Amino acid sequence: MSSVITTVEGLAALLAAQKSAFTAEGAVDAAERRRRIQQVIDLLVAWHKPLAAAMDEDFGHRPQGFSLMNDVLGSLASLKHARDHLEDWMQPQERQPFAPYDQLGAKARVLYQPKGSVGIIGTWNAPLFTLLSPLAYVLAAGNRAILKPSEIAPRTAEVLAAACAEHLDPLLVGVAVGGVEMAEGMTRQPFDHLVFTGSTAVGKAVMRNAADNLVPVTLELGGKSPTIVSRSADLATAAFRIAAAKAANGGQLCVNPDLIYVPREQLEAFLAELKGAYASLFPQVQGNPDVVAVVNARHLARVEGLVEDAIAAGVRVESLPEASAADPQDRRRPLRVVVDPPADRRIQQEEIFGPAMVLLPYDAIDAVLADINARPRPLALYWFGTDEAEQQRVLEHTLSGGVTINDAMMHAAMQDAPFGGIGASGMGHYHGREGFLEFSHARTVFEAGSYDPRREWGLLPPYGEHFLAAMEAQVTP
Ligand code: NAD
Repeated sequence: MSSVITTVEGLAALLAAQKSAFTAEGAVDAAERRRRIQQVIDLLVAWHKPLAAAMDEDFGHRPQGFSLMNDVLGSLASLKHARDHLEDWMQPQERQPFAPYDQLGAKARVLYQPKGSVGIIGTWNAPLFTLLSPLAYVLAAGNRAILKPSEIAPRTAEVLAAACAEHLDPLLVGVAVGGVEMAEGMTRQPFDHLVFTGSTAVGKAVMRNAADNLVPVTLELGGKSPTIVSRSADLATAAFRIAAAKAANGGQLCVNPDLIYVPREQLEAFLAELKGAYASLFPQVQGNPDVVAVVNARHLARVEGLVEDAIAAGVRVESLPEASAADPQDRRRPLRVVVDPPADRRIQQEEIFGPAMVLLPYDAIDAVLADINARPRPLALYWFGTDEAEQQRVLEHTLSGGVTINDAMMHAAMQDAPFGGIGASGMGHYHGREGFLEFSHARTVFEAGSYDPRREWGLLPPYGEHFLAAMEAQVTP
């Protein structure tokens, strides 16, 4: 059987074959799980150069060092963490049986068993990471998988498929290549679990289709990650770290700072710091080999459209660095800072996911919290400052997938802690023990003792005269 699937019928056949192999195999011991993860690690080590070249080609320009850091090293970190911890995670846990059976020889335990075959649908913006980072935890839990790379990064999909064909048994890890039809086809299959990374709108369609087969889903979606610059923050540090975050992947990261709340009286000073910081990273943008291009003409038009919609309403927009005549063939663009747009502008509502951001001046921190809470739950939240009481207030009065304090995006790189969204930014998570648990079935096993007192104690029908009184006596506070 080929590991590269190009039709939905082929996908259904591979899934059926994986399920039969899974059932026939039974338990997957730690050594076998490590062996499978190691095969993916070896694949990445052997193929990292063609994969980085493919990502460069797909974006129209993406520095290969950046692709190694973001996608190859990011995936390797997950794979190695999972490989090195899975044996601890998979240990059965003894649990306390209830009285009186605990006194009568009963025992109980929880087994963490693989679910079976997991479908993983990835995005173009982190075309390896969104497939291979969840795969690490899927394999750690003893499952098999079918990967669906994004059609918007077709060269990466092709190279990854070739690498998988060389290194992996399709009965363990297969690859389905194709467009939206294939992605939708994935969501209609009776997988044992589905991981989807993408937009909130498509996430809803994925969950609807998965519901037909009661397939549990992990949805890694996006949102407008709010960033609060506290009055207690060092402006220069906050501006530099926000600039560095916006510079990463051309702003095309799910945890990219999107709405930046700045104290009203510090708005100009912050903007000046941001300009200086961004210029120190990217003195010019077009032709700069360090800048990641917007992935395609459609996404460029989408981001430009959000900015133009604000300009049309008379909103102030700063270009970092100053815009020069754009070469239409080069999709590297300056960072556009949209200052205080009205709430009904599209850039206030839609995820930007590109080289633009919104600055929102505020007077009181509680107004910022109210604005954040009036919006869909974000994937990430950032707070810069030194006032610990304010930090605590922000953490206690908001919800988001994760949080980084005094920087941006860092929590998403943690291997030893769950990564995922909440509400409109998704559900479930990978990374860490929680990632292992996400793809395992926690199965309770109760083992009865040999002595069964129920008949002797009048606890079985026909109920004697004392049964009701005995039950009532136990209804205690
Ligand atoms: P997208 O939702 O447009 O597409 C994602 C995938 O869904 C694609 O591979 C596509 O083939 C598939 N797809 C499209 N229509 C489908 C349908 N009807 N049914 C099933 N699958 C379908 O997202 P995108 O443009 O590729 O990625 C950008 C989005 O992803 C942003 O919202 C970003 O925040 C989010 N994202 C989230 C994370 C995270 O970890 N939370 C990571 C990266 C990106």
